[in-house]
Amino acid sequence: MKKLLFAVLRYSGLPAFYRQFIQKRKVSVLVFHDIDLETAELTFEYLSQHYNFIPLNDLIQAIETNEENILPKKAMVITFDDGHVRNYQLLPVFKKYQVPVTIFLCSGIIDTFRNYWFLHERDTKIQKHLKTISNKERLDFLSLSGYSNEKEYKHQNALSASQISDMTPYVNFQSHTVFHPILTQCDDEESNWEITKAKFALEKKLERPINAIAYPNGNYTKREILFSKNAGYQCGLTVKAGFNSIKSDPFELKRLDLNDSNDINEIIVKSSGIHSLFNFSN
Ligand SMILES: [Zn+2]
Repeated sequence: MKKLLFAVLRYSGLPAFYRQFIQKRKVSVLVFHDIDLETAELTFEYLSQHYNFIPLNDLIQAIETNEENILPKKAMVITFDDGHVRNYQLLPVFKKYQVPVTIFLCSGIIDTFRNYWFLHERDTKIQKHLKTISNKERLDFLSLSGYSNEKEYKHQNALSASQISDMTPYVNFQSHTVFHPILTQCDDEESNWEITKAKFALEKKLERPINAIAYPNGNYTKREILFSKNAGYQCGLTVKAGFNSIKSDPFELKRLDLNDSNDINEIIVKSSGIHSLFNFSN
């Protein structure tokens, strides 16, 4: 049913019209997580023909200097959250379509055989519940099925240091905290540590400045913004759907989630941002 809805909406011409005329001067930031090579090829072939990719830093610079002119029309920033090991396979696609990608890494998970807690516990109902309890309760619950932040698994789940180093000429790596907790369910000390430690650990490992954080699961409050500013970040990315402009708060940047879909109609509709006006986005 949803598939049909995306097809109808796509062929209505509304998505193209909406972004071309109504939101022409806006910047959309897309978020992906773990798409396969085929989906990436399909997605970036389409996006490269219909949008103008810009690096995340250009958006930050435009906001900081209040200079709209440095942004092209139909500007689009591409981001990936978590640092999944399969992102490495996408490098040829990023090169082919010249996509200036930003990948947000968990400093405590990359370059280890540790795992993301939501890949250990894949039941979406349980995940949903775990996002509503305190960080300590979440970790206690996960420990019952053998999970801990430091536990090493048989398979590599996150990008390794050598993969990151191969991608570094083409990819802007930034911060997604240390272990991907729900920051708003952490106490002050935990939240501050996750935000601050990740920045310094990544800077040390990557030998590059880290200036952006993507709040895990998009959850943040004024407290997380404050901790991020104090740690020296220049911006924070949410998963609130919508567009950005030079007037945007750099610590509350909006992103469009394409749901890692391989349905071209869904890709077209969601990347236009028009779905954020309706209520069937997820
Ligand atoms: Zn994430």
